[in-house]
Amino acid sequence: MSGAGGKGAAAGNRFLARAAAGVRELAPYVPGKPLAELEREYGVTDTLKLASNENPLGPSPAGAAAARAAAADLALYPDGAAFDLKAAIAAHHGVDPAMVTVGNGSNELLVLLAEAFLEPGTAAVYAQFSFAVYALAVQATGADAIVVPARPAGSQQPWGHDAAALGAAVTPATRLVFVANPNNPTGTYLNDGELRALLDAIPRDVIVVVDEAYAEYVTAPDYPDTLPWLAAFPNLVIARTFSKIHGLAALRAGYAISHPDVADLLNRVRQPFNVNSVAQAAAIAALADAEHVARSRQVNARGLRQLTEGLQALGWSVPPSVGNFVLADTGRPALPVYEALLRRGIIVRPLGNYGLPNHLRITVGLPEQNARLLAAVRALQEGTVP
Ligand SMILES: *Cc1c(COP(=O)(O)O)cnc(C)c1O
Repeated sequence: MSGAGGKGAAAGNRFLARAAAGVRELAPYVPGKPLAELEREYGVTDTLKLASNENPLGPSPAGAAAARAAAADLALYPDGAAFDLKAAIAAHHGVDPAMVTVGNGSNELLVLLAEAFLEPGTAAVYAQFSFAVYALAVQATGADAIVVPARPAGSQQPWGHDAAALGAAVTPATRLVFVANPNNPTGTYLNDGELRALLDAIPRDVIVVVDEAYAEYVTAPDYPDTLPWLAAFPNLVIARTFSKIHGLAALRAGYAISHPDVADLLNRVRQPFNVNSVAQAAAIAALADAEHVARSRQVNARGLRQLTEGLQALGWSVPPSVGNFVLADTGRPALPVYEALLRRGIIVRPLGNYGLPNHLRITVGLPEQNARLLAAVRALQEGTVP
């Protein structure tokens, strides 16, 4: 991959200098290692992926059945307006369908928001150690990225968003503020009072994107319910996904809830068939399966405790997380630890590209999967792993 790019540059491919300025400097998103790649590269078979915050229970059985049924009819274009899916989302949240925009994962919605509101000379604000896609979406537009320092390591929400500092970073050039709540990879969150104060501090012509990819997992009583705030804040955009608790990451479906005027702008830049028909059908069924969501939430809450306490007992620093993953400080460069775990067939996420070289992000799995991870780390500590 780097070879191809390098060769192009050496051969003086003149179009490279002609790429859009924001794109030329862009480094692609680094996803969690796929299981098939681990099996290919390391020759291991009994593999476990705890790297991409997927639901270890899988999708709702009803969602999977709906996907299979929809896959029987692949010749027709999907409903470009996603009428039934938008209606289901609107009914689920008690909002008008005109406030719903669907995307190819919520990732696409983040990119559409950047495309709709950013251009060179404007700026977007987001926090240090926040979800990596914000930086990519902003940079590609040529707008300035204002990265606000995170809270200190020793604070209540270690490396979490500093709400007051985010608000203070907004200038007349600012068009967008990205807030991940909870944040990935830190597992931290802004509580009701903090997020509300941030919205109050930001002018109403600056879009505030509250990315709630893990909202369904949060059990903290002071976690904000942002939907009722839409009435007072026409600049608020709530982003949700079917990839996390709904277990449909493979199908790529997410949605935004916003003022209808924001939805209208997003619909101008979105591709006409951005969410495929299999994803639409599965998402509708998944949204209706409250039982699967409740069970996923319960299994996660227990696993979160198991992983946090287990890793702490092994000497790693693991601040409390409200998501379906933990941020673990291994106390030394984490890459060799990551590689040692790969040799044992376990994929976790190293965070060097987030500026956290001693940390790993580990997704909560099923009890036996968490136990296997903990046993592997214990073996590592005891030096029984090469
Ligand atoms: C996983 C994730 C998303 C988006 O996932 P999609 O699969 O694109 O819907 C968005 N925001 C955060 C913070 C995430 O961790």
